Amino acid sequence: MKITEVRVILTCPTRNYLFVKIMTDEGVYGVGEGTLNGSELAVATAIEHAGELLIGQDPMRTEDLWQLVYNWSYWRGGPIFMAALGALDLALWDIKGKVANLPVYQLLGGRARDGVLTYGHAGGGSFREVEDSVRSFQERGYKVIRAQMGGYGGTGMVKHTPSPGRNVPGTSYFHAANYLTETPKMFEHLRVALGDTVELLHDVHEQLAPIETGWLARHLEPYRLFYLEDILPPEHWESFRVVRDASKTSLAIGEIFTSRWDCLRLFQEQLIDFIRIKPIHVGGITEARKIMVFAEPAQIRSAFHGAADIGPIGQASSLHLQLTIPNFGVQEWSDFNAANHERLREVVPNPCHWEDGFARPHEAPGLGMDVNENAAKKYPYRRAFMPIVRRADGTMHRY
Ligand code: MG
Repeated sequence: MKITEVRVILTCPTRNYLFVKIMTDEGVYGVGEGTLNGSELAVATAIEHAGELLIGQDPMRTEDLWQLVYNWSYWRGGPIFMAALGALDLALWDIKGKVANLPVYQLLGGRARDGVLTYGHAGGGSFREVEDSVRSFQERGYKVIRAQMGGYGGTGMVKHTPSPGRNVPGTSYFHAANYLTETPKMFEHLRVALGDTVELLHDVHEQLAPIETGWLARHLEPYRLFYLEDILPPEHWESFRVVRDASKTSLAIGEIFTSRWDCLRLFQEQLIDFIRIKPIHVGGITEARKIMVFAEPAQIRSAFHGAADIGPIGQASSLHLQLTIPNFGVQEWSDFNAANHERLREVVPNPCHWEDGFARPHEAPGLGMDVNENAAKKYPYRRAFMPIVRRADGTMHRY
C-alpha cells in the first residue's frame, strides 16, 4: 500500500475546522484533524508542505513516518508543526484501523473502561445563575462540571473599563482582586446549595501571578475541587512550586502544550495532578500515548482538552486513546450532536456517542469518522482570532 495524496480540508460550518484525508493506491483512506484556533491557515500550509514527504510511503509505518515528519524540518516542534503532524498521524492510525478492520482503541491495547468520563461547562453572571447552570448539567447526566462566573476568565472579567473611551470591542478586561475574592465565595455557595459529592472544577485561564494563584488554591481547599485548571502560563513551570507548596488543591494544565518536552519537568517533580494535552496538538496519537506513559509513574491522570475549537475527529482520537490508558482522569466535552452543530454534522456526519456523562468512540474500523468534502466546500474559511484580555489601564494581561 502506498500513499498517493494528502488532501487539506479547511472549512467554517460554525467556526473554523481543519481536516485531512490521506489517500492510498488501494482505495483505503484515513481522516485526521489539525484545527488550531486562530492559526488554521498556517497549519494548513504546514500540512500541504509536510504531506509531500508522505507521497509514495507505506501508510502502515506510523512510527517511522512520525519520526520523518518530526525530524525533517530541523526547526522542529511548536504548535503549527505539531498540529500538522497530529493531523497526519491521526489519518495514518485511521488507515491502520481500517486495514486491521478494528477500531483504533483496539490497536492501542483495548478497552480499559466502559466509557470515558466527561465534564461540561457551567456558567452564569451570578452565584445563583452558576448554581442553576450546574444543576442543568447534573440533570443531563454530567458527573463532573466546570463552574465559571462572568466571561472568559471568570469573575475577574468585566465588559467595560473605568476609563471612558478605552473600551475596545472584542476585548475583555481583567480585575485580579475581584476575581480572587469572588471565586471562593462562588464555590462556597455551590457547595452549600449542591452538597459535597458533585465533582466541580474551575479554570483560571492563566490570569494570575504565582503568589495570587497559591492564595486562590489555598482558599479553594475547603470546597474540594476535582482540579484547578491553567493556574499559570505553562512556560513559567518553576512557578508551579509556589502553588504546590501553598495548597493541596489538585492542579491541571497542558492544553497549549505541544510536546513531551513541555510535560517532562512537571511530571518528574509531580507539580501537577492532571495533564490536558490531546492528540491533535502534540503530534497525534503516537506522541500522546507516549506522554501518558511518562505520566503514569508520576501518578498524573489525563484530562484531555476538548473545547469546541477541537473538532469531532480530534475528539474521537482523544476518546480512542483515553479508553485504553490506565491513568485516565476526565475528558472535557463538546457535544457535537447538539442542535447548534447541525452544519458541522454536514461536514463530519457522525460525532462520537455521549450518554449519562460518559462518551464512547465508534466501533467502526479506524477512528470511525469521515469528512464530506463537498459539504466542507459550502462553508469557506473565515479569518478569526482568539479573545484579547487587557487590564483596566489597557495593558495586555500576561505574566
Ligand atoms: Mg483551560
